[in-house]
Amino acid sequence: REWCVALPKVELHAHLNGSVRNSTLLELAKQLGDKGVIVFEDVKDVIMKDGRSLPECFKLFDLFHILTTDHDTVTRIAMEVVEDFAAENVVYLEIRTTPKNNEAKGMTKRSYMNAVIKGLKAVDAVDVVLFDSKSRTNDTLTCTPTIGLDGDIKKRRIYVRLLLSIDRRETTSAALDTVNLALEMKDQGVVGIDLSGNPVVGEWETYLPALQHAKELGIPITLHCGEVANRKEIQAMLDFCPQRLGHVCCLNDAEWKKLKSLMIPVEICLTSNVMTGGAPSLELHHFADLYNAKHPLSLCTDDCGLFSTSLSNEYYLVAATFGLSKPDLFHLAQEAVQFIFADENVKMSLKEVFKHAEKRLT
Ligand code: 5GP
Repeated sequence: REWCVALPKVELHAHLNGSVRNSTLLELAKQLGDKGVIVFEDVKDVIMKDGRSLPECFKLFDLFHILTTDHDTVTRIAMEVVEDFAAENVVYLEIRTTPKNNEAKGMTKRSYMNAVIKGLKAVDAVDVVLFDSKSRTNDTLTCTPTIGLDGDIKKRRIYVRLLLSIDRRETTSAALDTVNLALEMKDQGVVGIDLSGNPVVGEWETYLPALQHAKELGIPITLHCGEVANRKEIQAMLDFCPQRLGHVCCLNDAEWKKLKSLMIPVEICLTSNVMTGGAPSLELHHFADLYNAKHPLSLCTDDCGLFSTSLSNEYYLVAATFGLSKPDLFHLAQEAVQFIFADENVKMSLKEVFKHAEKRLT
């Protein structure tokens, strides 16, 4: 496990509000409990519960949003989430979040995102690289983790980029607003669009105009695909051919074959899929099939707070379940650099980070 922590890692599928520390959620719930907005004891039990079904997760997100959706709290959770990933030796993090309008709180999608960015800039424990990295390409090796096996004590560096999520509950026009916001915030660390939210809600045709617009603008796209067996939608998503896909749990043989022939990189979320029933068990998770087929993939946490996991733990689980060796795990982490949405400069920097770490770790 210690080795999996020391391994530099790339996180490509992490939802901001699913990655909040339980201690922070409890603190926020206590404050709202004291104000009489919620009943703290009820909420506490829900937050601390082990194991969650897919419908339960989405009920829980509605609760989390009550706790976290004001500007200051959004700033705080964004800061803490980056600190937590950096403490895991994540060297590149794409954090995704749904920009939210909330009139009562004076919040617009833009002001929500500004609050997120404020949180990323407030991180002090590590060096957060949020914007263009051109000026930094000469000193990439300071990305070397501080708690490496050799006791390196340099200040840690993490590249952070943002994906704007479209929630499946949103209208076409709200989805288009999110895509236009992504374009507007291109120079502020926003590198892509995600489609997420409860998979049994909404229709593909509702989001398609916005996703098509993003495609035309050259904004990379990742889609939550096949969390439930919606044949028509899975087919449409594969036909859309986005830059990446998340989950791909419920694909039938023909869809599986098509995914493999298209070579669309997959964001694999082991713990999340097993907990929510997308995969029957760790042993029977579709990771093995994709890995053996040398399909492009990357291990991710999805919601490390909600599912009590970490990216190091996901690597550990892969080793423990499928027998991958340390060099295999290293290679898996390194390969994920190919699938990031940030520009070539960042890719080059990350390649250096891995090259440097290889000597220590393999
Ligand atoms: P936020 O976007 O508010 O920062 O993060 C929470 C949101 O991410 C949820 O409300 C939901 O829309 C989305 N989300 C988080 N985890 C999952 C998941 O496992 N599947 C899907 N489809 N959406 C998710």
